[in-house]
Amino acid sequence: MDKIIKSSEFLGILGGGQLGRFFTIAAQKKGYSVVVFDPDEKSPAGKIAEKHICKPYDDLKALDELKSICPVVTTEFENIPAKTLQYLEKNIIVRPESKAVSVAQNRIIEKDFLSGCGIPVGKYIVISNIEAINKINEDHKIFPAILKTAQFGYDGKGQIHVNNIAEVEHAFISFNNAPCILEQKLDLDLEFSIVLARSVNGEYLEYPLIENHHESGILDFSLIPARVSLSIKIEAKKLAMKISNNLNYIGVMAVEFFISNNNLYVNEIAPRPHNSGHFSIDACVYNQFDQQVLAMTGNKLKNEVTKFPISLMLNLLGDLWFRNGKQTKPKFEMIAGPGVNLHLYGKAEPRNGRKMGHITLIGLEDQSEKDVMHKAETIRKILWEN
Ligand code: ADP
Ligand code: MG
Repeated sequence: MDKIIKSSEFLGILGGGQLGRFFTIAAQKKGYSVVVFDPDEKSPAGKIAEKHICKPYDDLKALDELKSICPVVTTEFENIPAKTLQYLEKNIIVRPESKAVSVAQNRIIEKDFLSGCGIPVGKYIVISNIEAINKINEDHKIFPAILKTAQFGYDGKGQIHVNNIAEVEHAFISFNNAPCILEQKLDLDLEFSIVLARSVNGEYLEYPLIENHHESGILDFSLIPARVSLSIKIEAKKLAMKISNNLNYIGVMAVEFFISNNNLYVNEIAPRPHNSGHFSIDACVYNQFDQQVLAMTGNKLKNEVTKFPISLMLNLLGDLWFRNGKQTKPKFEMIAGPGVNLHLYGKAEPRNGRKMGHITLIGLEDQSEKDVMHKAETIRKILWEN
């Protein structure tokens, strides 16, 4: 068995956004110190960690410094260059390992990996160059479709909806001919995710299924538990476990699913805690970041124990800071009350589409999913109208 990292040590995290900030809080609660590696001097996690190395991800000297401070490092966003992870892996423990992260970093590798494991994914065509576009024909039945850059996309960025070959070509050129994937646009009945954790010893746990609603490609709100049939739930759980086992994954991971015409598909995987798993901070005894700390330090996972079976997480985007054409902080004091949990990420500047925080609503006493959804609507209205 691997050694367990003691709480007198430093834990490293690559990336200092809100996921890194929640990780830092979870680690510090267990007595660990945290070193954040992020080039942004105002990063939300860097502000609260014991140490912040504020250098680019390919700065080898700075990475050497990181290695000298912590015995183990994890990541909070998937676009950390795989080379950085490989460089760290030579001397310290990286969890999840670079191999697993690199699968999720590239939509082509990811889709090929998933379909290679027998996981159902929507129809797709790899578009590495213009010739590949010329080869698309009617037999593919791919349109309407979405052209997605293979790398660096998030929150719907790097995606263009296309209806014919000419539009694919136009979109591909607008991405500077970067490798892409062309996905058939599925008629979505519902989207949901599974957040899971896997330990060094292959021990596995997952949180309840999370129903996700997006606005313009960005997660708007998540409802727990997802309103899906038992058979879909059983099938999705099997698929999530299979993916994590096949990656020999250590840490927390999210699997995003689509249901289209009653069929189940895996959309993508995230090699880290996930925005949709934030409900676990308030609704569960051990949240997704606690499991991330436990898994990376070689400890046993803690059974998640959902304290509140019904909850809803509402994302707060920077748009809310620009109501009525001027910049004003939302009046959060107006929505305070039992079961309303506000989390702000400490970001320096609000911007449209930027995740500034979230609110988790807990279903209290005999409140149903419908009641919680209604409460979310009321809260949204109050925040926008004041
Ligand atoms: P990101 O990395 O930005 O999360 P996704 O591939 O998950 O990228 O796309 C973001 C959202 O766009 C999805 O959650 C879904 O709502 C929509 N979407 C993406 N791909 C498809 C598709 N093939 N068919 C229908 N909707 C899609
Ligand atoms: Mg996604």
